[in-house]
This record gives sequence, C-alpha cells and structure tokens, in this order.
Amino acid sequence: MTDPRRPDPDTLSVQTRLTRSGKSPAYAGGSAVNPPLVRASTVLFRDTAEQREMRERRGSERIFSYGARGTPTSFALEDAVSELEGAYRTRLFPTGLAAIGMMLLCYLKPGDHVLMSDSVYEPARKLSEAFLAPYGIECSFMAADGSDAAAKLRPNTRLVYAECPGSLVYEMCDLPALAALAHGHGALLAADNTWGSGLQYRPLALGADISVMAATKYLSGHSDVMMGTVATTKACWQPLAERCDAFGMTVSPDDAWLVLRGMRTLSARLQLHQRHALEVARWLQARPEVTAVYCPALPEHPGHALWQRDCRGTNGLLSFELAQGTAPAAVDRFVDGLRLFGLGASWGGYESLVTPTNLRAARSVTDWSAHGPILRLHIGLEDPADLTADLDGGFAAMAG
Ligand SMILES: *Cc1c(COP(=O)(O)O)cnc(C)c1O
Repeated sequence: MTDPRRPDPDTLSVQTRLTRSGKSPAYAGGSAVNPPLVRASTVLFRDTAEQREMRERRGSERIFSYGARGTPTSFALEDAVSELEGAYRTRLFPTGLAAIGMMLLCYLKPGDHVLMSDSVYEPARKLSEAFLAPYGIECSFMAADGSDAAAKLRPNTRLVYAECPGSLVYEMCDLPALAALAHGHGALLAADNTWGSGLQYRPLALGADISVMAATKYLSGHSDVMMGTVATTKACWQPLAERCDAFGMTVSPDDAWLVLRGMRTLSARLQLHQRHALEVARWLQARPEVTAVYCPALPEHPGHALWQRDCRGTNGLLSFELAQGTAPAAVDRFVDGLRLFGLGASWGGYESLVTPTNLRAARSVTDWSAHGPILRLHIGLEDPADLTADLDGGFAAMAG
C-alpha cells in the first residue's frame, strides 16, 4: 500500500530529510529466524479513519496502537507464553512480582477475600498483607497442600491463589480438586507457575483460570532480564486486559526479545537442570550433615504422588536441611566455603546458586520452628561432579 504521508524528498531540505530517510529500505531476500525487535512509543497511522478504527478495536483485539499497549516483539512473546501455558492470551509485566500484584488487583475489589496458599513466594505474601487490606480486600492463608481450603473459604472469597510446587520446600497441592472447590464457590483459581515454567507443570490444563510466571527465571534462563507473565482462559481475559491497559503495564521490547530467545532452549535446559539436580540431591541424601532433601521428584517428598500425577518433570531447584541446632555461624561457613555456587537471590539461570532460607518467616499456617536450617540450591548446567566437589568443600568449611 502506498503511504499518502510521503512527500517527494526532492522538495524537502536536508534537515527535514534526515528525520524521514531510511525508514523502509527496499531489499530482496528471505526472512530472519527470529521476530524483529520493534521499539516504539508512537505508532503512526495512515489517516484519521485508520486511527479511529484501531482505537475502536483495541479494547477487544490486539492492536499495535501505542508502545504502552505492546509491540510486535512483545506480542510474539505473549503468543509463545500462551502456547506454553495452554492459555487464551497472555500479558507481560516488568517483574514476576508486578505480575502477581496486578493479577490480584485485576480480579479482586474491595469487600472480596483472597485465600492464598501458605507456600506463596514471600514478597507476594507481604504485598497482600501490606497493601490489599488497606483497600478493603481480605487476605488469609491455607495450608500449602490445600488440605484445609474448604474450611477456609469465606462467603466473599473470590480468588484462591496457589503456588504449586511451593516456594522453598515445594509442597504440592491437588490443583484439580482446588479448582473444583473454588469454582463451586463462585471463585477463580490462580496459580504461580514459576516452578513449572509451563513445561513441567500446566495449571490451566489442571483447572486453574489464571497462571502467573516469573519469566525472570527459566523462561529467560540467563539471569539477565526481569519479566512476569499472566496467562488466562478466555473467560477470564477481559478484566486483565482492561486493567493492564488502564495502569499502563508494559515491558521493554528488548526484554521481550531476550525472553523469547531464552524460551527457545527452555526444554533442553530443563532436562539438564533436572538431571543435575537429581544427581546432587542423591549425593546430599548420603551426607551425614543433611537431615532432609526437599524436591518433589524424590520418593521421600510428601507431595511425590501428586508430582508424579501432575508434573512432567522437575527442575534445578532443591533445598536441604541441616541438623536442628546447627549454629548460624556454621551455616555461614558452609555458604562462604562454596566456590562454584553463587550467593544470591533468584534462580532459573544457567548457573548454580545457594540461598539460606527462613521457613519460619515464609509460612504462617505451618510451623517450621522444629526444623534445622534449610538452604536452597539452584543446580545449573555445570558438571554435577564439580558441584558436589564444591558442596564437599562447603561441608569441610562448616566443620571448621
Ligand atoms: C522469583 C519469583 C517470583 C517473582 O519474580 P521476579 O521477577 O523476581 O519479581 C514470583 N514467584 C515465584 C515462585 C518466584 O520464584
């Protein structure tokens, strides 16, 4: 189609031509493997009729009309996540936590109650307690395995929010049962699917209405980009789309492009993370210093049967417990004695990490005071023999 807004360049001064040249180069050839990176705030229209039409349609359709509403690059990532999650559509957020916060605001209003699992990512718990209550939204917690969910529903419960497997010790809940319970009560079921990444676990296929992921973790896979995703069924889409537009929720196309690139190798990376983590888990189980290893793929894990039923595999995460009474200084010596494991928050990159946890602070329904110190490991793509040698060095340092 010819562009009516294209005057003859010969009639323009060089100063003006600089602002217009080189915008649509003509060339012959094929196409790139990856979708283009499109950066935009302003989106131009051919004429007033087209602009008017696009503004009318953008409430219900995905229209490229302004950078804040997404770009062809973020649309490509939305589609890839929707496919992974088995969702109708997906919205992107600057962080996983922002995705959780906006999701709660999208589906709850003053007077409503949200029932959350005890195992939710700790900042989500803090956000809910500190910021939902002042807006008149009640928040309370159920056991991480969902066993007391029926008793904890309130007449005004509009959302049940589960994280399965849970943060830090990977409690499993029966998501299809939770979905039936929530739906029977007129409530929606949302799940944090960061652990499952859409490959190892698929909440929407198990009955959830909404699935949230921190794409910061495995989707990105390289510890260099922050992003969150919310994927929903068709029935739940509209409140999310409307509120995200109203709040100006968007992501940088560069970040979307990076996550899209990371996702191409998600399956291959997870296979290695899983294999290495299980190898390290078995090695840890044989250590005299370790009283428990937490990973739902281990037969000893309380959620193992549900994991077998609902998950396609595990990932690089595992936690382990030291004997009760182990001094905090000994835990520090262990962590500081590691050379390969990085000490830092987050996980899902290609590299191994260690983080001390505080289950007592992260749970309010279950009492973790009778446990020893628990450390979370993220097992990366390094050779597991090097990793266990490093852990061996940590235990030697711990012994002092
Ligand atoms: C990391 C994480 C988040 C938050 O993701 P950010 O991108 O770091 O904000 C949410 N849920 C779970 C389970 C996580 O592990």
